[in-house]
Amino acid sequence: MTYKTLLRHAEKEIEKSGLELEVAKFLLMHFSNKTAAQFYLDFESEVDSKIEASFLKALEDYTKRFVPMQHIMGYQTFYGYDFIVNNDVLIPRRETEELVENVLYFYDDYFKGQQVDVVDIGTGSGCIAVTLSKEEDKMTVYASDISDKALEVAKKNNEKLGGNVSFRQGDLLKPFQGMKFDIIVSNPPYIPSSEDVEKIVLLHEPNIALFGGDTGLIFYERILKDALNYLKPNGLIAFEHAYDKNEEIKALVNHYISGAKITQIKDLSGKDRMTFIKVGE
Ligand code: GLN
Repeated sequence: MTYKTLLRHAEKEIEKSGLELEVAKFLLMHFSNKTAAQFYLDFESEVDSKIEASFLKALEDYTKRFVPMQHIMGYQTFYGYDFIVNNDVLIPRRETEELVENVLYFYDDYFKGQQVDVVDIGTGSGCIAVTLSKEEDKMTVYASDISDKALEVAKKNNEKLGGNVSFRQGDLLKPFQGMKFDIIVSNPPYIPSSEDVEKIVLLHEPNIALFGGDTGLIFYERILKDALNYLKPNGLIAFEHAYDKNEEIKALVNHYISGAKITQIKDLSGKDRMTFIKVGE
């Protein structure tokens, strides 16, 4: 079969399962080890039979067993870095790249040039912590997760990508008792427990990384309740959250941290997605 025929075949199979058509192209590029440009140049040429076999097996994992493309390939690119992923961690999402980007902007605004201590709560694959440590030399980055298995993945990513993150196992901020940070960042589990989640997510991503209690707000509340004990006087808290929780998050902030300056930012698809909380001056 040619690349073109194989791609069309795969797209039909994916369509039947109601999944994402573009995954066909990404998987075929992955197994044939081609860039997008090369892939289209070779569009009418024959696919090597070994490549075809591996691709068809992967296609079946995707369409029949709902295995995410990132688990088949073993990684997800985030902020230009390839993060190892498996079913012990949430697959890094686009929106979270925007969270990282905004943390870097806020750093420039409030702390530029200064050495800062940063902590990422519930680090999962380590995508936030490792990226921050790669992108800003002045950040000393710490990260926690309650899951030992997630931390194994995060540590591998830190090593592989040359990050400089210190990891600790434990519940939210607890592993850092006695420490004070300039920036606390978190993308905690935020799906309400009763909400329907796509099969591809529910079957293969860890439930503890997805659900945030009845309202989806439990982790924000727990972090905010404790935050001032772990934040320096002019610190910043940065959250990613669900698109429909702007007001609830604001109310929680006002309840636990009075007088803070709150900035809420939309993601690139125009949805409310991030809240930045600056205490002090
Ligand atoms: N902080 C990690 C991420 O952004 C994990 C988030 C989670 O598991 N809820 O990918």
